[in-house]
Amino acid sequence: MDAPRKSGRQRREEIREKRRQRALAQAAQTPPPLPRRPPDAVEADPAELAHNNTYGLLPLYYVDKAFTCRDCGSEELWTAKQQKWWYEVAKGNINSTAVRCRACRRREQARRAEARRIHQEGLER
Ligand SMILES: [Zn+2]
Repeated sequence: MDAPRKSGRQRREEIREKRRQRALAQAAQTPPPLPRRPPDAVEADPAELAHNNTYGLLPLYYVDKAFTCRDCGSEELWTAKQQKWWYEVAKGNINSTAVRCRACRRREQARRAEARRIHQEGLER
């Protein structure tokens, strides 16, 4: 089927109308207003965070965080769930973040325990 011939003017008006419709459609689907939280975010519980006597801002939610292990340099992921546990259950300081992978954290804990033991022995001698 052949479309009937159109004048240049008609053509331009059609194009303009199409653009107008497209702009309207785009405006109708603007993203939701801020704050936009990622779909995998884990909700923070402000009551559990109250122990943090800070003037800084408390988190509204947690999202997985990528970091590099301070000791071995491996790429690690501190998950939103682990963060929630750390801040709200273990009552970790609100300004602290994960810096070591699991293996290096274990090694560091053992090293500290050993240093403490040696220190204690020195005091008792
Ligand atoms: Zn490591």
